[in-house]
Amino acid sequence: MSGQPPLLGVVRYMVTHMLAGNVVVVRSIYEVLGQNDSPSMIVRRYGLSKHAVKGYIQRIVERCGSRRRAEIIVSRVGPIVLGAVEPIVVDDGNVAVCKLCMVCSPDNARMVNDPSVRYSHVRRLHKAVVEMHIRRVLDELRAQVAGHGGGEVRG
Ligand SMILES: [Zn+2]
Repeated sequence: MSGQPPLLGVVRYMVTHMLAGNVVVVRSIYEVLGQNDSPSMIVRRYGLSKHAVKGYIQRIVERCGSRRRAEIIVSRVGPIVLGAVEPIVVDDGNVAVCKLCMVCSPDNARMVNDPSVRYSHVRRLHKAVVEMHIRRVLDELRAQVAGHGGGEVRG
């Protein structure tokens, strides 16, 4: 995953979490890097551990090579992912159910309350869906950039 361009890496990471139903992970990344909220605010807001929040942020910054570049990319990409991507893994009582695998997924019982299991389920089993949503997010980003900046990306 480290060889891909930063924008693609960020979009892939956020789209995969969103499809996995890890909406608070995507919101946390957007609110810290795109809106400059502090990680401790996020911890209070969503009940995630500070360690987890720092891990998500660190993964994005690593993909981008610098904190500033991560902020620019996430501030653009975050609202598109949050607005345009519907989770395919949903909570259903004490299991989480993948809407594409339905009841036959062996991961269903393990996915509830475990963002990393949900993430790896989507990444391993639904590559085509992930790629489709990546293309959709990049198309929307291109349309926004063309519409507001005359083809020029402004940070
Ligand atoms: Zn599935």
